[in-house]
Amino acid sequence: MAYIAEIIGVGTELLLGNIVNTDARDVSVALSRLGINVYFHTVVGDNPERLKQAVAVARSRADILITTGGLGPTYDDLTKQTLAEAFGKKLIFDEDEAEKIRGFFRDRLGRLEITENNFRQAMLPEGCVVFDNGCGTAPGCAFESDGKHVLMLPGPPRECRAMIESGMIPYLKRLAGDEIFSHNIHIFGLGESAAEAKLRDIMERSSNPTLAPYAKDAETMLRVTARAESREAADALMLPVIEHVKATLGDAVYGVDTDSLENTVISLLRGRGMTIAAAESCTGGLLAKRLTDIPGASRAFLGGITAYTNEAKTALAGAPVETVERYGAVSRETAEALARGARERLRADLGIGITGVAGPGADDVGNPEGRVFISLSSADALVTRALDLYYDRERIRIAAASHALDMARRYLTGVPV
Ligand code: ATP
Ligand code: MG
Repeated sequence: MAYIAEIIGVGTELLLGNIVNTDARDVSVALSRLGINVYFHTVVGDNPERLKQAVAVARSRADILITTGGLGPTYDDLTKQTLAEAFGKKLIFDEDEAEKIRGFFRDRLGRLEITENNFRQAMLPEGCVVFDNGCGTAPGCAFESDGKHVLMLPGPPRECRAMIESGMIPYLKRLAGDEIFSHNIHIFGLGESAAEAKLRDIMERSSNPTLAPYAKDAETMLRVTARAESREAADALMLPVIEHVKATLGDAVYGVDTDSLENTVISLLRGRGMTIAAAESCTGGLLAKRLTDIPGASRAFLGGITAYTNEAKTALAGAPVETVERYGAVSRETAEALARGARERLRADLGIGITGVAGPGADDVGNPEGRVFISLSSADALVTRALDLYYDRERIRIAAASHALDMARRYLTGVPV
């Protein structure tokens, strides 16, 4: 069954805006990994009456209550008393905890005299599971009462994060049994809505695993998510769906759980012992930048030319003056000349040429913003993509570089460019 949890942040400083509620974020991240739903984050001041009210509301709508803060030794730290009282648990003096507190003061702080209020931390709800605090003194704890689970974590973010890992996650894992696992299917050349349209039936039909599309720059990603007791069990649920997506979307799928198009291209080139070079106009070196972001790129990417003006296209990339003058800087022919020039000048197996109008606005001979020509040149092929991209300047450049990478990965895997 899917549990519902509610996080209650305790602390007036949160309400005053003095600090940001990072504990709630950290707890929520961990809960979503466990497949536990969070419907509400509540924040309440250091006030027992209002904390009691918040607890009453939370227990009416959640199975698991998780508090952060207010576990310390000072009088305003009321979480344990209030929660224990709300669930009819007595606070009991825990001798083990008292000994840990004595040890902490002796070994870490070099002090033997301890004020009495420090031992308030050794008062714990009867029958609770104690969460050790590896970074401080206030222990956390968890108990079950009335079919509800109550977990209390310390406020200081470092202590809270440590206890989420060492205490909360193991406790809730036993409870929830299942965890959430996912795979990402990377797609290029098919928009989010087009992908969804092709996969609508399976998206609507399946609840475990689920399939959801995400758009990122010019790319689309499909996330497959399964709830299961282990990674193996989850994979058994997810693999048929991944195969179905691959079969439906064909060569638009460029990888599963791969990092990026540039990563894919570099590893394809390296696997084949091949090299690439680029001559870029409107992307200004973005393709080169993205390829060189990948560690170990130097074995596959030989270099790039930023050929921005007509003169640079000729002087640096060897595009014939007549070609640029006759067809214009933004043209199929110039893109081809750039691709060939990059390949020949750097003696690469593949050359890429990119020329286009990143905008804003049309260029001075009337090519509209977003018109881009990308060519790929090899010993046996010369292919060009003519695009009209409807984005802003930044995204036009990103999309143009991504299209160039997509052409390279298609060429290298032998699917139509
Ligand atoms: P201590 O033993 O330090 O008193 P505690 O468990 O009693 O810990 P609080 O007294 O409520 O926790 O908070 C201690 C400090 O932790 C706060 O001053 C604040 O800086 C930080 N803190 C508390 N709650 C949060 C929160 N929800 N998100 C981020 N930081 C928090
Ligand atoms: Mg405190």
